[in-house]
Amino acid sequence: MKTGFLIDMDGVIYRENNLIPGAEDFVRALMATGTPFLFLTNNSAPTPEDLAVRMKHLGIPGLAAKHFYTSALNTADFLVETDPECTVFVIGEGGLHTALHEKRIASDSIQPRYVIVGEGAATMERLAKAHECIERGARLLATNPDNWCPVSSERTRPGAGATAAFLEASTGRRAYYLGKPNGFMFHRARRKLVEVALQEPEHVVMIGDTMETDIRGAIEVGLQSYLVLSGSTQIEGVSDYVYQPTRILNSVADLVEEVKTGIPCDRLSSPAFGCRANPGRAGNRHQTDVFALHKPRPRPAMTK
Ligand SMILES: [Mg+2]
Repeated sequence: MKTGFLIDMDGVIYRENNLIPGAEDFVRALMATGTPFLFLTNNSAPTPEDLAVRMKHLGIPGLAAKHFYTSALNTADFLVETDPECTVFVIGEGGLHTALHEKRIASDSIQPRYVIVGEGAATMERLAKAHECIERGARLLATNPDNWCPVSSERTRPGAGATAAFLEASTGRRAYYLGKPNGFMFHRARRKLVEVALQEPEHVVMIGDTMETDIRGAIEVGLQSYLVLSGSTQIEGVSDYVYQPTRILNSVADLVEEVKTGIPCDRLSSPAFGCRANPGRAGNRHQTDVFALHKPRPRPAMTK
């Protein structure tokens, strides 16, 4: 029996157009040892095939569409399970349209049952049409709650959460947000991990760089969670959260030997903890609640 990994991409495997050091070795070790893994992203714009090509160009060949689960696939799974005969009006890009098409969910710009908002493709004309559909009774569904997404280390772009917020404001209706940290995303990703691996892993671990999506969602569905510090979270900020990751790592490079040997280290042997002045100090979790009352909420999650 093995540990299976659900792996966030931006901030874990790459940043902008550069692989994070050690990420290639980590993925190679996963493939060489037959360790179950699945990449999990809130970005609803690309298809799984697009992501496999992107990873190849970044320097990680050998991945296939089956190794990726996006919030667009999660949205299509959700509709098929809860309302298979529905019709939809979509604001989104290729990955979302393709996912819905593959599940035979029909487009409808007259009287759809849902307005689906994903990453990109929002024009005032499409927003006005979506607004009209919602006023006529369509329900509002967003592929993910990200208000903004990183474009580079200095630039961001509006995310699906911001587009959905526009329609929430104009219609007075509340959106339902899929993608991380929604439990349906983690539940379905775990199911797909088992299908792809053809085995039931003993443990499933979520690896991510964002507390509000990767770590929170994993905890809420009962998965272990490893926070990596190679992306959007600094170790100084971790104690601001009520929920805490199972382990904190500098990057996925810290896991390469563990994957190769099959022997996991325990939490306190995590390299990131070794850098702290007093790694065994008790009381952080109780202080966290106090901090949370006096600090502004962190900016909503950003993931790709
Ligand atoms: Mg991320």
